[in-house]
Amino acid sequence: MKKNMGSEKRKKDLKNGVSTRVIHHKENFTEETGSIMPPIFPSSTFVHGNERGFDYTRSGNPNFRILESVLSDLEECQYASVFSSGVAAITAIVSSLKAGDKILCEENLYGCTVRLFEQVFNRFGLKTQWIDFTNPNFQEVISNHKPAMIWIESPTNPLLKVIDIEGICHFSNKMQIPVVVDNTFATPLIQRPLKLGATLSLTSTTKYINGHSDALGGAVCTESSVWMDRLNFAQKALGLNPSPFDCWLITRGIKTLPLRLDKQTHNASKIAKQLADNPAIKSVLYPFRSDHPQFELAQRQMSMGGAIVTATVNATQDQTYSFCKNLHYFKMAESLGGIESLVCHPATMTHASVPREIKLKIGINDSLIRFSVGCEDIEDLSADLNQALGKIY
Ligand SMILES: *Cc1c(COP(=O)(O)O)cnc(C)c1O
Repeated sequence: MKKNMGSEKRKKDLKNGVSTRVIHHKENFTEETGSIMPPIFPSSTFVHGNERGFDYTRSGNPNFRILESVLSDLEECQYASVFSSGVAAITAIVSSLKAGDKILCEENLYGCTVRLFEQVFNRFGLKTQWIDFTNPNFQEVISNHKPAMIWIESPTNPLLKVIDIEGICHFSNKMQIPVVVDNTFATPLIQRPLKLGATLSLTSTTKYINGHSDALGGAVCTESSVWMDRLNFAQKALGLNPSPFDCWLITRGIKTLPLRLDKQTHNASKIAKQLADNPAIKSVLYPFRSDHPQFELAQRQMSMGGAIVTATVNATQDQTYSFCKNLHYFKMAESLGGIESLVCHPATMTHASVPREIKLKIGINDSLIRFSVGCEDIEDLSADLNQALGKIY
């Protein structure tokens, strides 16, 4: 085999801006034909000894390489590895641990991450400890637990807690504990976990990166060749690979990420203000609003406030649910990060399986709603909100 593409060190051309880099990437497989867009390689197998080192698609495919190259460019790091979903990317990371190892987790992690740890990996002897990483005593907690890995997410879902990535990594790196940051909500455009000291930066590319709600994918970025080998091993040994077509779709979607995220963030900040000014809304959470509990940290750590807005309605659970149903452009659906606006009622949707006491303990009340703000015209979104707010009581 000539080259193992997955662990090949990529030379970075970072003199271009990020919008240029996501459109013009080096790895394209288009040289021979002059094609502007990369082809799709559905082939499951490759001729032995070929120049690029491909053998079987479960362990590598040109469409994976194209997407990995643009993702590592976006994150400004050496390596990226792609998977069939965000959950598959999480599985790949956790599969490198062993029975008895403990992961110290932020208590407000994404629901499917919690389920995977608690209902699958716990049966294989993996231990988990859940803590509030906004509590300044995290150093003491890390020293006491001596975990094999730390798992954080910032901003969190759906409460948009902002966690001090640099502070946690600085301390954990001294103890040689790898830190995983789930960067799905922020994307590498808003926040670069590896630059803040994280070992692995994980993204569900299903969300903002693809942005069109038509493909599932996950990715892990790192500067460590040791971790890259582990991730590539997991991709082929556990069968966590994406499909070439999904990689192609995500590679296409990513080209408009900077445009989309700018517009979505602009819309989201307006919507956060509109909600905060309405008496039917009890409170609003948005990282770049000065009343956000970690506002200063958010300003330091993130380049924009992002496009998720969370609010508590001054109403019962039923009234809150009807409010969501009465919205026209904000479709009531799980997921986030697409060009279309969505609204979610976590208590009955994403967090339905979490026991009510735990939901209340972490702050997910019955009247909490989460908006994933899309690219529509702000005037239309705003009018839609007003008509549904007017029908609450
Ligand atoms: C959606 C999501 C995941 C899981 O990704 P899938 O692509 O749905 O498997 C993980 N973390 C966060 C924060 C997410 O929003």
